[in-house]
Amino acid sequence: MDCLTFRKNINAYIGKSLPDDELNAFLQHLSSCEKCREELEINYIVSEGIGILDEENHDYNISRAYERMLRQDRRHLKLVRVTRVFTYIIDTLAFWGVFFCALLCLRILLQAI
Ligand SMILES: [Zn+2]
Repeated sequence: MDCLTFRKNINAYIGKSLPDDELNAFLQHLSSCEKCREELEINYIVSEGIGILDEENHDYNISRAYERMLRQDRRHLKLVRVTRVFTYIIDTLAFWGVFFCALLCLRILLQAI
């Protein structure tokens, strides 16, 4: 992801509407580009600051909320990756299970003839 695409996706990221694949590219670019990291933090602080004005009894430490949001999104992506690996493993086991059952049925059928 380049800086222009990153900046176009900032509002979608803050609004939690980025798909997982784009979120992954977004966070990878974020970890490697200081200018975009500053841009995101400024946008997040402005967005959260406006939202806080309407709420009562809210945590006013926006930087902490920003760091918490990044940690949660990175944790979410790790969970997505682990889920994909388990899904792959389960699908592979199911495939080979069905395959060997079909072979056993074929063997029984050939012995009966
Ligand atoms: Zn950048």
